[in-house]
Amino acid sequence: MNRPKICLLFCGGTIGMVKNPKTGAMQPAGNVSEIIRIFPEIQKHVQLDFKMVVNIDSSNMSPAIWTQLATTIRDLYDQYDGFVVAHGTDTMAYTASALSFALQNLSKPIVFTGSLIPLNEIGSDGRNNLIYACLTASQDIAEVCIVIGNRIIRGNRAKKYHESIVAVFHSPNFPYLGELGRPIMLNEWRKRRRKRTLEFKPNFDSNISVLRIFPGFDPYIIENVLRRGAHGMILEGFGPGNVPTLDNSIIPKIEKAVKAGVPVIIANQMEKGVTNLTAYQGGYQAMKAGAISSKGMTTEATITKLMWALANTKKVSDIREVMETNLEGEL
Ligand code: ASP
Repeated sequence: MNRPKICLLFCGGTIGMVKNPKTGAMQPAGNVSEIIRIFPEIQKHVQLDFKMVVNIDSSNMSPAIWTQLATTIRDLYDQYDGFVVAHGTDTMAYTASALSFALQNLSKPIVFTGSLIPLNEIGSDGRNNLIYACLTASQDIAEVCIVIGNRIIRGNRAKKYHESIVAVFHSPNFPYLGELGRPIMLNEWRKRRRKRTLEFKPNFDSNISVLRIFPGFDPYIIENVLRRGAHGMILEGFGPGNVPTLDNSIIPKIEKAVKAGVPVIIANQMEKGVTNLTAYQGGYQAMKAGAISSKGMTTEATITKLMWALANTKKVSDIREVMETNLEGEL
């Protein structure tokens, strides 16, 4: 039997870190290319190659590195049956969402994984996570996903919710794509492998602002963001996306932004929440002022999708169309 060819792309995170002996804080290790030697048995199942992209704590991840990662995968795309990306868990949901927009119409999986305990420490979850990610990358899946513990989660639906070695991510508004057990269970709503032409649009415009509305929010904060020249804005409203409409109304500011060609997206602050701008006056008035609803998207998917949309089109009406269209299962 031909073993599937998998490429492990290394982007950093705890999985490749060591403790600084002086401070006790974790930092990226010098040499991580030996990583695939720690689980030689995987080579019985897949042919695994290693490629270094960056070695950073994922709080230093940037849209420029998303572009670099997407470009690396595009360049290697025809040589492999699947990809594993080792990445810090802190911003993994952002990178996974970003890649789902940069690399659309996949015919093979891109599987993100990481760990909470470094590989070189006793009891590390990294070894198992890498093995499970490699096995997932050889399955009949064709989308960006996250595998930590035994869950396979759609990347642009994932949220980091916990720091535990058994469960780091969940998918509040969409069921898991599968579970790694005996046997591996894959659910029917996953995207399957078939012949498709890859759509490669790797750029992001990160000149946006994300503002959480709070009781006492000064509408001039929005004015300041506009003056700073932001290209887009995400406002996290209350409940299903309600915003203040009385003395402290932000509705005129939303109108002003949209008139100036700056798209305003209303998201929500709930863990499992869906934005619904027709539920209350506070959402309805924002919608009438020209705001766009994030609907059921996670904040991570909303942010990366807006950055991606702004890099590909400028008109507010076109951005609206992109944001309201289900591109890769994020809605
Ligand atoms: N701070 C680390 C990172 O995101 C945490 C992890 O890898 O889980 O890079």
